[in-house]
Amino acid sequence: MLVNSKEIILKELLDRHMPKLHMKCTCRVCKNDVLALSLNRAEPAYVTDKKKVAYAKAEIVDKQKNTALLVILAESAAMRKSFKHLDVTLLPALKRHIHQIHILSSLFR
Ligand SMILES: [Zn+2]
Repeated sequence: MLVNSKEIILKELLDRHMPKLHMKCTCRVCKNDVLALSLNRAEPAYVTDKKKVAYAKAEIVDKQKNTALLVILAESAAMRKSFKHLDVTLLPALKRHIHQIHILSSLFR
């Protein structure tokens, strides 16, 4: 059995952070659209067993990776065709955040 752990992780992140993505429509179809776009852009991380997804999740607790996936989610939400239904104000803030993390991590290297 093959599972793309990113699918499970991105689904969870989307559920948790959906309010911040300001999606006007959060129906199953729109959610799946954003998820599909995100999965096409995120590097897949296949595991052979659903139980092993827990290990992949533990890795995502790493803030920087988490933020990178959130950026992908936000960008995918913005890429959706029904542009007028989406607010992408979150994006610049996330990019700034990632930049700050990069600066911080270079200081402590
Ligand atoms: Zn919808």
